[in-house]
Amino acid sequence: MDYYFDNAATTQISEKALREYIATAEEFYANPSSVHKEGLKAHRKLEETRESFASMLGVSSSSLFFTSGATESIGKVISSLLFTTPGKIIISSVEHEAVASWLPLLKQYGWRCKEIRTRDGFVSKNDLKEELTPDTKFVGIMAVNNVTGAIEPIKELVETVREYEKTIKRRIFFFSDSVQALGKISYDITDLGIDGASFSAHKINGPRGVGLLYLRNPSSFRPLSPAGGQEKGKRGGTENLPAIAAFRVAAEEWLENQDEKNRRVGMLKKKVSDAIASMGLHILSPENSSAYILSFASPLPSEVFTRMLSDRGVYVSSGSACSNNVKGEGEKILLRMGVKSAEAKNAIRISFSNSTTEEETDNLIAILKETINGK
Ligand code: PLP
Repeated sequence: MDYYFDNAATTQISEKALREYIATAEEFYANPSSVHKEGLKAHRKLEETRESFASMLGVSSSSLFFTSGATESIGKVISSLLFTTPGKIIISSVEHEAVASWLPLLKQYGWRCKEIRTRDGFVSKNDLKEELTPDTKFVGIMAVNNVTGAIEPIKELVETVREYEKTIKRRIFFFSDSVQALGKISYDITDLGIDGASFSAHKINGPRGVGLLYLRNPSSFRPLSPAGGQEKGKRGGTENLPAIAAFRVAAEEWLENQDEKNRRVGMLKKKVSDAIASMGLHILSPENSSAYILSFASPLPSEVFTRMLSDRGVYVSSGSACSNNVKGEGEKILLRMGVKSAEAKNAIRISFSNSTTEEETDNLIAILKETINGK
């Protein structure tokens, strides 16, 4: 039997989403930009899907753009800064590489870049306030950290920025990478007051290679290139309609009874967390973290421990799997959160899906115990 606990890296596509993918590929085969009957039919499907996302997220459909995933959504927004007069960009020191990796290029183009430190993984409003300067143009703070699940106080941070704006009489763009937040914590774009956000289908049982970009005020956004002009010139390239339609089905399914599901997953996480703590190991996820992510310090280097678990049919990740290509990424983020070096090296991330069962969780605990005791 296999136990998949690496859902923060990617989830398995749901049956309904997969069926929708196939049905859309078969029925809506034309290019949504074509003006013949089949093209118009595909275009209608695309726009209906956008409307559904708009009502799920409580925003206007004109503020949503389909992309190939969160990495592209983030890249679109940050690269567009290159068109503007350089200023200061502030991001948290624990952002995903999809955000952080842009800093060297921005620096090269004259931007002042600040990676604001976190306190136990959280950005404090006072630290942010101290960094805000008259040339600050962009603030990027993730909603939920992908390594520990820490829930950043986005609303409070946005309020701090809005307060500061009164002194400079100009808006600062507040972006929040929301990949690990959608459907996993209580999340309301309008209430948060952010200007931009990124989402990804494959974290909530949708297909890979499709995501969303939210822009509060799209008219002020100029991408590096409009390419073929799709997505109102904000994201060129033929829309991946089957994946977009499957994303919608997955999101609707995931968000149904979201609070109840999150509560249930929270209880599973607590069970695992208590079991790990009772083995004398240190939990690295803070109290205020997503129900879906649990990080702890194992007794062995994380590559060794993940392999031992894998041999027993349990799949977890060391730090952040989506960044395992960037060596030591999870470890680096944990160090920046103040985790001791020896613990950061041994960090293991267990991540749940909203369909994870109690039986799977009990087996995970039993295998963890066996692996730790047998080492
Ligand atoms: N941001 C965060 C916080 C993530 O966890 C991930 C993926 O793991 C990404 C961005 C990138 O998302 P995508 O795979 O859709 O490009």
